[in-house]
Amino acid sequence: MQFTTTPTSELPGIRETLRATFKAGTPQPIEWRRHQLHQLARMVQENAELFVQAIAQDVGKPKVETYFAEIGPIVQRCLLNAEKLEEWTSPVNLVVPDWQKPWSPTIYKGGKGTVLIIAPWNYPMILSLQPLVGAIAAGCCAVIKPSEIAPHYSTLLSELAPKYLESSAFRVVLGGVPETTKLLELQWDHIFYTGNSRVARIIARAAAQHLTPLTLELGGKCPVIIDPAYDLKIAARRTLWGKAQNCGQVCVAPDYVLIPRQSQDAFISALKEAYAEFFPAGSLSSESISRIVSPEHHARIMDLLERTQGQVVFGGASSFQDLRIELTVVRDVSPTDSLMEGEIFGPILAVVPVDTVQQAIELVRDSKYPLVLYAFTESDTLKSEIVKGTLSGNVVFNDTFQQLAVNELPLGGVGESGYGRQVLKYTFDEFSYERASIDMPKQAEPFLTVRYPPYTEENFGV
Ligand code: NAD
Repeated sequence: MQFTTTPTSELPGIRETLRATFKAGTPQPIEWRRHQLHQLARMVQENAELFVQAIAQDVGKPKVETYFAEIGPIVQRCLLNAEKLEEWTSPVNLVVPDWQKPWSPTIYKGGKGTVLIIAPWNYPMILSLQPLVGAIAAGCCAVIKPSEIAPHYSTLLSELAPKYLESSAFRVVLGGVPETTKLLELQWDHIFYTGNSRVARIIARAAAQHLTPLTLELGGKCPVIIDPAYDLKIAARRTLWGKAQNCGQVCVAPDYVLIPRQSQDAFISALKEAYAEFFPAGSLSSESISRIVSPEHHARIMDLLERTQGQVVFGGASSFQDLRIELTVVRDVSPTDSLMEGEIFGPILAVVPVDTVQQAIELVRDSKYPLVLYAFTESDTLKSEIVKGTLSGNVVFNDTFQQLAVNELPLGGVGESGYGRQVLKYTFDEFSYERASIDMPKQAEPFLTVRYPPYTEENFGV
């Protein structure tokens, strides 16, 4: 498609307009924010079918997945934010020792200012609009830079946003590296970036020039630890379903499975059964699974598959023309295999046999901290060992992907998987600052004289 980018010469002016709106106090009134949140929900709801089509054109995402993971959550979270505005923005009176109570220690909440949201292509709607929801709720103005790799969605968003949102406060900028590079030269009050950790380093360097605070929502390489005592059929179904979402192109996708060697055969059989049930005619041309986003990503994933020393159990077929890759399971993958080099971000599940579950925990502990650690076990002892013995953004027991449905849970990484948190109040907090305050009463003066010079031993009673 013809993807028209925003001229870079316009970008400083866009930022100036937004800054002027923030300085004029336009986003301050709660009613104004609530209206913008309702308008955003309206935009998504009234144009849901257009968004479904655009996202299908970009990444071949099935309609069910777009409703389930993008449209539904965004509309719901706009409304929940709108409901919570008073509660979240109210000044907080603190519990302090009695002698400090007259000082009225208080925390005031305010929007950070004019912020920049840089989003990726894989869940183009939720990952661009969820930060926007938090920015609106916090009282910020925002530029949204959706991904050029999802041009249909990004263009549609840029056309619809001005019809629903206040244009002097919220603007969509279209473009790729040159436009984002120009945006990053400008000063922002917060940058919220979702994407890969290589580009995150570019963003962090640019932010450092202006001491701009950052949220970095980065990549996955999410392991799955399997306790052989768990029901392997259920573990296989839930793992394969999580892997199939968006054809594995999800930051929280199960990336590789760590399973004690003696249970690998049984787990592989269960994966085969689940695959036959989910995709009776195979997954290569199934309408129940997305395609690969671009020729570059197709080539990257196929290269991993060609270089693996593991054994392909099922899948492995591909069509470059249709950007399709079959859902694929590879067994007997070693920790040094091509599939373990980085985040797979595609429809390949690597099964890595280990000696014991404890060895699996050690492998995770020694790896870069993942975004999510999944584990299938009913043992409370093992759950506790996993929680205490590893570090990851989230830790999820006995399912995959479904944690994202719990609005109240924060999503975010640690170490290589990023920093900062999102979803509802957590996103609001990213875009807010907390201003500490006291209000000293006049009547306190007699008690305060003790602090004034000249300092004498008498004053301090020493
Ligand atoms: P992408 O290629 O769309 O890039 C993301 C954004 O970065 C885009 O808006 C793009 O224009 C911009 N960008 C790319 N190169 C740039 C550069 N050189 N300078 C400045 N900006 C640049 O998306 P992606 O990075 O391929 O996204 C996939 C990655 O994102 C995966 O690693 C995935 O795990 C991660 N991700 C994380 C989360 C999370 O919540 N933690 C969610 C989704 C995706």
